[in-house]
Amino acid sequence: MSIQNFEKPFTQQEGMPDEVIERAVEILKGGRLHRYNTLEGEVAEAALLEQEYAKYQEAKYCIACTSGGYAMQIALRSCGFKHGDKILANAYTLAPVPGAIHAAGGRPVFVEIKDNWHIDIDDLREKAKSSKAKFMMLSHMRGHIADMDAIMEICQEHDISLIEDCAHTMGAKWKGVRSGNFGRAACFSNQTYKHMNSGEGGFLTTNDDEVAARAIVMTGSYMLYQRHGTPPPEEVFQKVRLETPNMSGRMDNLRAAMLRGQLPYLDTNCRRWNERYQTLEAGLRKSKNIHLPERKQHEEYVGSSIQFQPISLDPKDIPTLVANCGKRGVEIKWFGDDEPKAFTSRYDSWHYIEDLPDLPKTSEVLSRTCDMRVPLTFNLDDCALIAEIICDEVDQLSDV
Ligand SMILES: *Cc1c(COP(=O)(O)O)cnc(C)c1O
Repeated sequence: MSIQNFEKPFTQQEGMPDEVIERAVEILKGGRLHRYNTLEGEVAEAALLEQEYAKYQEAKYCIACTSGGYAMQIALRSCGFKHGDKILANAYTLAPVPGAIHAAGGRPVFVEIKDNWHIDIDDLREKAKSSKAKFMMLSHMRGHIADMDAIMEICQEHDISLIEDCAHTMGAKWKGVRSGNFGRAACFSNQTYKHMNSGEGGFLTTNDDEVAARAIVMTGSYMLYQRHGTPPPEEVFQKVRLETPNMSGRMDNLRAAMLRGQLPYLDTNCRRWNERYQTLEAGLRKSKNIHLPERKQHEEYVGSSIQFQPISLDPKDIPTLVANCGKRGVEIKWFGDDEPKAFTSRYDSWHYIEDLPDLPKTSEVLSRTCDMRVPLTFNLDDCALIAEIICDEVDQLSDV
């Protein structure tokens, strides 16, 4: 019996809940979209969002801003990162990460990854020592959370400020601690394909008073910083406010309303992603030609995307696999392509970075890594069908 084709789009997110739409219309009719455009005694939508997300995240401060990439730049600068500083970073990430480092004037020291897409702890230890970098940008790329105990030990030993890129780990935990609560600051994205969707948007979270104060001033607070949802005490602002430049990147009230309305559904949605992920995973494991590394028990991930390795195939055959799956409606991406298509995640395509290193292990892992989005508009039957199609295509190509 032949397997049917898959027909739903991989880029379709769910629509907004009704209460979001109602609130958005109210804000649009009111005309006060700017976060500091408030009436006497009124708390702006953006400030309410900051309070609510900080509470969810179990962080002291949340600063809402324009994008995840912007939050990363501001996080670096707020933590004292200066032009020319070195920064450790896992080489497997997405283009906004090296872009944020570049915008802050940083010199990345890329660290290798392992077969399970985690940062290579031995390479990190070695490079922390040899580079003497005082900052690290750890991207929990595609939601894979590495051994945070080992990473924190290295950071403490070498006095490294850790900034976490949680674009794919909003709602995830490691040993019961929310992803983002390990470093000095964490950055989240609310771009359409992330775990909350306002089209564009970002959060910076931290427990550090001065980092929060600088970040608030940097996002462009016009000295109206006390109107933030989670402002540090006034004396902290007095210390930093005139020494900190305005780099406008505020969140507006309309986006804030979209995110406030989605936050109550976040944990439920994380569970829904994982049901889909686990259906796909179980389906893909049926082929002996496909490898999915086991995920450690203490990683409470959010399966909003899935990665797998067609181990029986030569990397040069993967474009054929991608094309064949595509013909049957299954949209797979390949991290090994020499030519970045639709996204760039291979460190050697970031030519603006000086002295790009040779990272043979990372290149090798990416050359056999396939990746797929898991939108919530797919149901569990969809996921089972997708897995069946992928297995069929991998097995057919493996037999020739
Ligand atoms: C989406 C993403 C970001 C931030 O992206 P923005 O589009 O700037 O919000 C950062 N890191 C990773 C790994 C991402 O996927």
